[in-house]
Parts: sequence; structure tokens; C-alpha cells
Amino acid sequence: MTHFICETCGTQYAKSERPPQSCPICEDDRQYVGWNGQRWTTHEALAQEHGARLEEHFGILALGLTPSFAIDQRSFLIPTKEENILWESLSVVTDEAVEAIRARGGVDRIAISHPHFYSSMVEWSEALGGVPIMLHEADREWVQRPHPAIEYWSGDTLAISDATLNRVGGHFAGSTVLHWASGPRPGGALFSGDALQVGLDRRHVSFMYSYPNFIPLGPEAVRHTRDVLAPFRFDRIYGAWWDRVIPEGGSEALARSAERFLSALGSPDP
Ligand SMILES: [Zn+2]
Ligand SMILES: [Zn+2]
Repeated sequence: MTHFICETCGTQYAKSERPPQSCPICEDDRQYVGWNGQRWTTHEALAQEHGARLEEHFGILALGLTPSFAIDQRSFLIPTKEENILWESLSVVTDEAVEAIRARGGVDRIAISHPHFYSSMVEWSEALGGVPIMLHEADREWVQRPHPAIEYWSGDTLAISDATLNRVGGHFAGSTVLHWASGPRPGGALFSGDALQVGLDRRHVSFMYSYPNFIPLGPEAVRHTRDVLAPFRFDRIYGAWWDRVIPEGGSEALARSAERFLSALGSPDP
């Protein structure tokens, strides 16, 4: 019995004798099936080929894989006042990454923005001492490896020390961002996953239902995302991929980007 991992989206599945028939996450409009057909691998096989990429990235420890794998998101170790949160997850757990996290006091819980980044979340929880994994209940149907460590939260906000999980929806019904009020420097930060996608000018964000297939969110969802985050101040925005960071002026960048995006959709603010 094996926990198979989809090679295109990096999601690990519940134990099975043979690889699953298909990957519902990749068959969904927001993703795509690999061009050579559905392929599967295992954590063991991946661990032989991929090492940890660990970087102090704009003042915070970011973790990824090298060479890159699947969607290639990164995760962050967020040291809030009362607990350490591992934000997002990766498909491979490496000893080097676990040691780096332990050296910084370990992790009290894992929180993940949305199903594209669930990856090998259960492996991470187990490697870090069985810590809880916080997922929004609106995306429960996308969990492919159920586990007692998973804790579903509901509603639009969940405070964890001086951080807040905010459900903005849009890309997925439960798409969540993490606001850290006081770090990693005064002014605070927003860890946006791909609910807000940091553009290459590093001054704007975008709002898409599907990034690989270029399907934008509609005006209502864009306004909702902006309005949910309006009460929060943040100087910096950390996007889902390496180097996708808006170093300063984050709140203003969101306001400016929403205005521009709504105009492009033909639905400008009155
Ligand atoms: Zn997949
Ligand atoms: Zn996504």
C-alpha cells in the first residue's frame, strides 16, 4: 500500500494498492492533467531526487524544493508572538528542512491557503510532531488524504496569536490568506498564496480563478477579496512563488490592483 503523489499538482493521496484512477485536482478547470497523461510518484522516490531549498527571504525563512517539483510553491515559517506557524506545505519532507525548523523552535501548527498546496501536508505534520493542520472547511471535498491532524475551521477569520487567517474565497471557496500584524517587521505582512497573485512588476497583484488556464475572477469576487482585507494593514505581500514579493506598500498595492483589475473587467468602481 502506497500514498501516491500526483506528478503535476504534487498532491499526496490516501493509501492504495495501485495508483488512483485520476487526480480530481488536476482534472478541475483550475489545473491541468500533465501533457503526457496522468502520472504518479511516491514520497520515497521524490526524496531521492529533491532536496530542500531554504532561504532567508525578505526577512523570513522560506522553504521549497530543489530541483523544483509540480506547482513549486514555497512555504514559510512564521514566528508569531505565541506560536510558530508553517504557512503552506510542500510535496517532500526533507531532514534538512525539519532540522532548520526545529532550530527555530519547531512548529505549533500548519495552515494552508487552498487545495493546490495541500501537497504532502500529513507527512509534514507527522515529521513535526503531529501538529494540527488548519484548513478551511469550504474546501473539505478536495482533501485527498484525510487524517486526524486536519482541523477544519469555518467562518471568515481565525485569529492565531498576532496573525489572522482570512478566508477571501474566489480562486477556491475556502481560499485563505494569512495576515501577520507585527512581522517580520513593523507594518506587518500578508501571505497571499495565490488568492492574490503577485505580478512581475512587484507593485500589483492579480485575481484569477485559474492561473495555468488564464481564467480571471469576476468583479464580485475581486471586490469581496479587497473588502475582506480592507481592515488589515500590511506593508509587504509574500506571494506563493519565489521572488514574488511586494516589498512595501502592500495595502496600497492591493487597492490599486483591484481598481485596475475591475476596470479591465469592464466593471469600474462608481
Ligand atoms: Zn494532480
Ligand atoms: Zn491555486
